[in-house]
Amino acid sequence: MNNKKDYNYLLSDLTKLKGVGNKIANLLKRKKINTIFDLLWKLPKSYTDRSISSKIKDLKIGDIQTINVVPYRYNFPRIRNLPNKVVCKDETGNLDCIFFNSYEGYIKKILPIGKQVTISGKISFFRNKYQITNPKYISKESSLIKTKHNKYSLTEGISEKLYNKIIKQIISNLPKLEEWHNKKILKNFNYISWYESINELHKPENIGKYKTSFYERLAFDEIFSSYLVHSEIRKKIRKFKKKSKKFDLNKQKDFISKLNFKLTNDQRFTLEEINKDLISNQKMFRLLQGDVGSGKTIVALISAFNVINSGFQVAFMAPTEILARQHFFLAKKLFSSLINIEFLSSKSEYKDRKKTLNNLKNNKLDIIFGTHSIFQKKVEFSNLGLIIIDEQHKFGVNQRKKLSDKGGNNCDVLLMSATPIPRTLTMTIYGDMDLSIIKEKPKSRKEVKTYTKLESKVDDVINFIKKEIKVGNQVFWVCPLIDESKKIDNASAILKYNFLKKIFPNKVALLHGKTDTSEKELILDDFLKKKYDIMVSTTIIEVGIDFPNANIIIIENANKFGLSQLHQLRGRVGRGNKQSTCILMFKSSLTENAKQRLRILKNSNDGFKISEEDMKLRGYGDILGFKQSGLKTFRLADPVMNEKLFNLAENEIKRIENNNEDISKFKTLMKLYDQADIINDIV
Ligand code: ADP
Ligand code: MG
Repeated sequence: MNNKKDYNYLLSDLTKLKGVGNKIANLLKRKKINTIFDLLWKLPKSYTDRSISSKIKDLKIGDIQTINVVPYRYNFPRIRNLPNKVVCKDETGNLDCIFFNSYEGYIKKILPIGKQVTISGKISFFRNKYQITNPKYISKESSLIKTKHNKYSLTEGISEKLYNKIIKQIISNLPKLEEWHNKKILKNFNYISWYESINELHKPENIGKYKTSFYERLAFDEIFSSYLVHSEIRKKIRKFKKKSKKFDLNKQKDFISKLNFKLTNDQRFTLEEINKDLISNQKMFRLLQGDVGSGKTIVALISAFNVINSGFQVAFMAPTEILARQHFFLAKKLFSSLINIEFLSSKSEYKDRKKTLNNLKNNKLDIIFGTHSIFQKKVEFSNLGLIIIDEQHKFGVNQRKKLSDKGGNNCDVLLMSATPIPRTLTMTIYGDMDLSIIKEKPKSRKEVKTYTKLESKVDDVINFIKKEIKVGNQVFWVCPLIDESKKIDNASAILKYNFLKKIFPNKVALLHGKTDTSEKELILDDFLKKKYDIMVSTTIIEVGIDFPNANIIIIENANKFGLSQLHQLRGRVGRGNKQSTCILMFKSSLTENAKQRLRILKNSNDGFKISEEDMKLRGYGDILGFKQSGLKTFRLADPVMNEKLFNLAENEIKRIENNNEDISKFKTLMKLYDQADIINDIV
C-alpha cells in the first residue's frame, strides 16, 4: 500500500500495476503512456451496463445481458471445428455457453459444475436454445461483473477488461494529495479536490461532462502548471546577470535615416523595448511578434547593429537557407563595410566553411547568418552577444530554453514570429518570454484583394495574369498540397510548371522541395531580377521571403490549408506598394464551413483576428500545425471551450509573480504535470 499523500505512486513505472508486465507496459509506452499518472487521462469513451441481471426465461436475444447460472454439463466433442459447450441453468431454463478455441482445462476452471457463476454477454438463440458464444465476462464474484464496464479506445493488444482492471486499481490506490490551490481559486470549482475530481472523471456516467467542477478543476490544473513552469523559466533567465551592452544611439539614428522608408510607430516602439533589454544587465529573452509584412526584419537588424557596436557578435538564424540568405544580403546592403558579415551554409565547401568558423572563433566576424546549423557544437563564437531567430514558431519551450543556455550568460535572445496566435494561446506558447508586438503595417501597404475560383475556371486566371505580367508584375503559383507526402507535392508542382511553360515560354520558374540549394538560389535571384514572371512552387515559399515586385499569388487546392497558413501565404505578396491579388483555387464547390472560413480571410487582413476565428472553427490542435511542432498539447483543457480558465490561470500567475509568492506548494503539481527536463532545474 502506498502512502496516501505521496505522488510517487503516480510517477511509478507501469509495471508496478498488478496485471501489467513488460509486454503490456511496452504497448502502452508506444502510446506515450509511461507512468501511472499518464494512464489517468485515458478516459472511457462509452460504457456497457452489465449491472442489471435477469432470468434465463426473460433473456432478450441480441442484447448484452447478465445472468446468475449454475453449470451442470460439459460437452467437449473432440472433433475439429466443433466448439466446446457448457450447459448452464437457473430455475427458469437452460443456457449454452459456446467456446471456440478454448482449452477444456480453462473452461472447467471458469465454469465449475454445480457452482454459481455470473455471466455477461450477447445472447443468441440457436436450435431452440439460448446461448452465449465465447463469453468474456464470467466470475464467481457477481459484483465484478454486475457493474458498468468502460469502453476505451483500445491500445493494440490490451483488452477492455484489462483496461478496466488497471484503471480501477489506480483509482483505488489514488493518493489524496495535499491541496496546492488557495481557497479563492478553489471556489471557482466548488472546492472539489484533485482526488475527488479524478474519481468523478472516471465514472462512466460522467463521460463527456466538460462543464462540471471536476472537469474544469483538472483542466485548470493543467493550464496553470504549464504557465507556472513558463513563469519559472522566465524568472530563471532574468536572474542571469549579463554584461550590459553599450552603444551610441546616434549611430542608430544615422543608420535609420539612411533607410528608404520611415519606421512605423510600432517598429520604433518595439526597437526601444529591445534596446532597453540590451542595455540592462538582465538577459533578454524576447519574442517579436508581428503579422506578415509588418517589418520585423529591419527591427532585428537594427538591434544587431547596436549589439555589434557594443563590441559583441550576433548570430542570425532562419528556418531555411533561402530566407537566411535573403537576410544576409539585406544586411550586407545596409551595414557599412566596417561590419564583417558572413553566411554559413551547410552546402559550402569545406575550406570556406573552415575559414568562416575560424573567423567566428577569432572575433574576425561580427555577424553570421544561417539555418540552425549555426548552433552546432562545432560552431564557436568569440563573444556572442545576441541570437536572432526568425520565424521560430516551430520551436518548443525546451528548444528555446536550450538555445538561451547555449549563448552563454552575456547572450541576449530575440525570436521573431509572423504567426499571430489567438490571445488565449499566448501564455501557453510564449509564456516563458517577454513579448513585443508589431500591430501596425507600413502605411504604403495596400490590402491584398482575395478571390476564390474553381479550378475548372483556370483559363480566367491565365487571362488575368497575362494582363498583369504585361505591365511588369510577377506571380507566385503555389501548388496543391495533396497529402502529407512531399513527393506528390513536388510532382504536382512539376505538372503545373509544364502546363504554364507552354503558355508563358521561358518565363516560368520552378521551385520545390527537391531543388538543390545552389539552384534554388539562382532561381530566386533570377526571379528577383525579373528574369521570370511566374514562380511555381510548393509551399516552401511560405516563410519570410521578400519579393517586393511579386503582387499576385495563386493558391491551388486552398481548402487543404488552414486560415492562418493561407494568410501567411497571402502575405508573400503585397509587400511593395502596388495593388496585390490573391486567388484561392478549389477543386469543387465548397461546403458551408469552408465558405465561412474563406469569408473571414477575404474580409480581414489582420492575422491575429484570423487566427482567433480559425481556432474557433477548427479547434486549437489543428491551427498553425502545432501538432508537428512538438508544442505541449493539453489533455483536457481546450482554449476555445475553457477560455475562462486560461484567463483565470494567467491572472493567478501574475498575482503570484507580483507578490513574489513562494511556489514550493506547487511542487507536486509541477512534478506530476510537467515531467519535462526543464522542470528538474526548477523544483
Ligand atoms: P516580416 O515582418 O513579415 O518579416 P519584413 O521585415 O520582411 O516583414 O518586411 C516586409 C517588407 O516591408 C520589406 O520589403 C521591408 O523592406 C518593408 N518595410 C519594412 N518596414 C517598412 C516601413 N516602415 N515602411 C515601408 N516598408 C517597410
Ligand atoms: Mg520575416
